[in-house]
Amino acid sequence: MTEFGFIDQIKALCESLPKCGCEGIGDDCAVMPIGGGRSLHFTGDMLVERVHFLREATSPYDLGRKSLAVNLSDVASMGARPVATLLSLSIPSELMGGWIEEFMRGYRDLSLEHGVALIGGDTTASKLDLAINITAIGESEDHLIKRRSGARVGDLIVVTGDLGGSGRGLRDLLNGHFESPAAQLHKRPTARVNEGQWLARWGEIHSMMDISDGVASDLRHILKASDVGAEVELSLVPISKVEAIEEPNCGALRDALSAGEDYELLFTCEAEAFERLATQYKERFGQPLSQIGKIVAGAELVWLDGGVAVGDDFSGFTHY
Ligand code: ADP
Ligand code: MG
Repeated sequence: MTEFGFIDQIKALCESLPKCGCEGIGDDCAVMPIGGGRSLHFTGDMLVERVHFLREATSPYDLGRKSLAVNLSDVASMGARPVATLLSLSIPSELMGGWIEEFMRGYRDLSLEHGVALIGGDTTASKLDLAINITAIGESEDHLIKRRSGARVGDLIVVTGDLGGSGRGLRDLLNGHFESPAAQLHKRPTARVNEGQWLARWGEIHSMMDISDGVASDLRHILKASDVGAEVELSLVPISKVEAIEEPNCGALRDALSAGEDYELLFTCEAEAFERLATQYKERFGQPLSQIGKIVAGAELVWLDGGVAVGDDFSGFTHY
């Protein structure tokens, strides 16, 4: 069974549970309306040693920041403002002391940068590996929430920044190049926290999520949730130019679509708004927005190269 097959199974098995006014499972965050036109957002992301990181390849400080950043990215992708986190750690005894203190310094510094409180969690011993589990809580006005389910036929598909740099960095790391520019990008991702809240103010944006598993996988979540299809023009995909030591095995384009962990935002918007949006985004954040395709009727995701359909079925990262 795949990761997403398992999540579908959880959903089906727990269908009979009360919703208690919440929306979830299925989006980057679960949404809980709290009245007065506002909602809270909840998300959890876990990082496990040897699955998500190698202890010898990262500094504890960077790992503290990254653990938080990947959670803030999910809050940002709903257009929400992160307000608080819960942090649970399962710590091998040899990391108690200086190592875990440095981890906490990284966690604290990024929390400070975004004005996020740490309000609880749990601490246990671990017999072997380090595991980090975070719950992040955000808040927003109801009418600004960007869900995966809002994409409409005719919308343009847009990504922030560029893609594939983190995947190239992971390849460098796995080959022992821990400090190449790409490896550093992989270890120090930036969650688009301010960008997500800024984009939320645009009513012309109909759906949004963050890119954690690669556009090839993540766009499919938007299509499924919105009951639409898409055409993506490969020549429009913004490929990261970050310096890496190892050559991509299957080309930089495949890294950009399939490797994941770029933590950029993927959204769909009304076509007429795109130029205005891109100009203002560039002025505000100094980064490009790239239009890579459009939402169409149906359920298919078609990859085009110069307008011609290519047979390739790019796929993103999955745990199983
Ligand atoms: P993301 O990449 O944005 O963190 P995921 O792909 O991990 O999202 O998860 C997809 C959806 O499934 C989310 O709504 C998430 O909360 C939910 N989910 C994942 N694992 C579980 C689980 N073990 N139990 C309940 N919900 C889960
Ligand atoms: Mg996400």
